[in-house]
Amino acid sequence: MKIKLKVWRQTGPTAPGQFETYEVPDANPHMSFLELLDVLNEQLMKEGKDPVEFDYDCREGICGSCGVVVDGTAHGPQQRTACCQLHMRHYQDGDTIVVEPWRADAFPIIKDLVVDRAAFDRIIQAGGYVSVNTGNAPDANAILVDKHDADLAMDYATCIGCGACVAACPNASASLFTAAKISHLALLPQGDPERATRTRAMVDQMAAEGFGDCSNHAECEAVCPKGISISAIARMRREYVKALGR
Ligand code: SF4
Repeated sequence: MKIKLKVWRQTGPTAPGQFETYEVPDANPHMSFLELLDVLNEQLMKEGKDPVEFDYDCREGICGSCGVVVDGTAHGPQQRTACCQLHMRHYQDGDTIVVEPWRADAFPIIKDLVVDRAAFDRIIQAGGYVSVNTGNAPDANAILVDKHDADLAMDYATCIGCGACVAACPNASASLFTAAKISHLALLPQGDPERATRTRAMVDQMAAEGFGDCSNHAECEAVCPKGISISAIARMRREYVKALGR
């Protein structure tokens, strides 16, 4: 099948960018979207041109490395699907696909489709670590966790930190990411000793990084490849208010 690609090209953080149009004449329907970019890059390199820079790692939808806006939607049109798992069989022969980087002030463009998502790492770092000496690993099930809480914590723990939530949010807010991390740890007894300091530090770091605030658009939930619910954001707000009182 023949696929046309309109790809955002930008040589550096301060360089002006523009869309370039390319054609992949022999795309295979079983190819993933990232494999399509690989084929495009082989073509470009054969022509002596600069390949398109994009982020990827596991290509299994679990690492959070890849992330581009495909036809106006973070990770593309398939729900709960990271763009590494978006396959060409969902397209028709002759289709044009428009590809852009995540766009948010807190995620500056490095080159082409690659953005700097280190702001997420700094939010995680602000959360810190358990400061008390916890000794050896306890026996399994020594600390009982309510089944409902364990399941909910697991749901929030599935956040892969891709940043689609930021890219989709009209406020470029990192609330879903930060809330997923805070909620995951706040629900487990092991996370209790540092609960207030961790919540305050992560929320404050999110603001310091220049992410916008949440105004309940729920676009983040719609594009999240892991289907993380915005109920996490309500929980983060409750945790933050409680933490301020401590
Ligand atoms: S909440 Fe979803 S979209 Fe946002 S960073 Fe986590 S996995 Fe990505």
